[in-house]
Amino acid sequence: MSQKNHRPDWTPGDAGAEFTTQVKAGVAGGHDGMSRQTDNATSAPTIPRRRRLTVEEYVQGVLEGKRNVLAQAITLVESNAPAHLEIAQEVLRQLLPYTGNSIRIGITGVPGVGKSTFIEALGMFLCEQGHRVAVLAVDPSSTVTRGSILGDKTRMEQLSRDLRAFIRPSPSSGTLGGVTRKSRETMLICEAFGFDVILVETVGVGQSETTVRSMVDFFLLLMLTGAGDELQGIKKGIMELADALLINKADGENKLRAQAAKTDYNRALHYLAPATEGWRTRAYTCSALTDEGIDEIWKVIEEFRRQTTASGFFEKRRQRQVLDWVYTMVEEHLRQSFFAHRGVKDIRAEVEHAVVEGHIPPTVAAQELIKKYEESSGD
Ligand code: GDP
Repeated sequence: MSQKNHRPDWTPGDAGAEFTTQVKAGVAGGHDGMSRQTDNATSAPTIPRRRRLTVEEYVQGVLEGKRNVLAQAITLVESNAPAHLEIAQEVLRQLLPYTGNSIRIGITGVPGVGKSTFIEALGMFLCEQGHRVAVLAVDPSSTVTRGSILGDKTRMEQLSRDLRAFIRPSPSSGTLGGVTRKSRETMLICEAFGFDVILVETVGVGQSETTVRSMVDFFLLLMLTGAGDELQGIKKGIMELADALLINKADGENKLRAQAAKTDYNRALHYLAPATEGWRTRAYTCSALTDEGIDEIWKVIEEFRRQTTASGFFEKRRQRQVLDWVYTMVEEHLRQSFFAHRGVKDIRAEVEHAVVEGHIPPTVAAQELIKKYEESSGD
């Protein structure tokens, strides 16, 4: 479905370069992209005070490499206003043939591990190699922390000034589902625009790694070497998601320790199931500060792409991911619809009480709730 080289003569920033404010805040609130059950649409922000573009203008603008239209198209998919949903989906539908021509890389690690320093180093390295790099973030906690990742304009200063790159902070949202949809759709728009490397950053806490894993081709876990146990705080589950472990800050006095940690991790990795069929996850070292090891990790990613493309796994994973995305949205919609259902709400307390008190078995409780839900439309 991809149309490669649809704009062979295009260089990023050719058009719309007057809009160089690249770090833009996402919009607040969150829905899953489906029709809403509980309506708070009136409080949702709309595209502010700008003439609304037509579908054709969005599509043409993105395909022509106009940065201001790129930003507006992303704002459109991030919007929670039901009126924007339809137009956003039509824009995406028309852009879809131009998407997919990128390598999607997820990057995670605990706060302070050096994610933004690394992304800046890798991003600049890639831009200099002729790539066009989009940096996105998935941060489901950003309503609480006010956009903790990529929200701070002082991060990635060099990269954010480079017209070959584009940085978009996490859309703020209450639900991971909402953030995920927006980030995935933003990724597609960025691909249609012409970015061929998409870096998706997430903080190394909780569920967001699994979510980011489900939207990228290659997943990179940044790590630190430290005193004591080299497996400090790193959950085995997260290591199992990774296609490479990268021990950052391998510079100065820390260099030798990082080398030792690499050996330890490689030993540990031996016993873990690989994240990608036919690929062996290994540990590497780098210094995002001195750039040492940045070229090596890029070679690893390129080799990964070569191997998985040849084996067919690259495409297979993408197909599975897009179907998973569909059913995740269906599930989320059904869940919301169920809990917002008036009939269900009416009997929930009573059914819960009965099951907690041991008067009815859980299966019967579930059956009663579902029967109520299926009985009427809930209006
Ligand atoms: P994040 O929270 O994961 O995004 O981490 P940051 O990129 O903000 O980095 C946290 C701190 O570690 C900053 O003070 C960086 O300058 C420092 N740092 C990042 N990468 C390196 C590195 O490779 N070597 C050294 N020595 N310091 C680094």
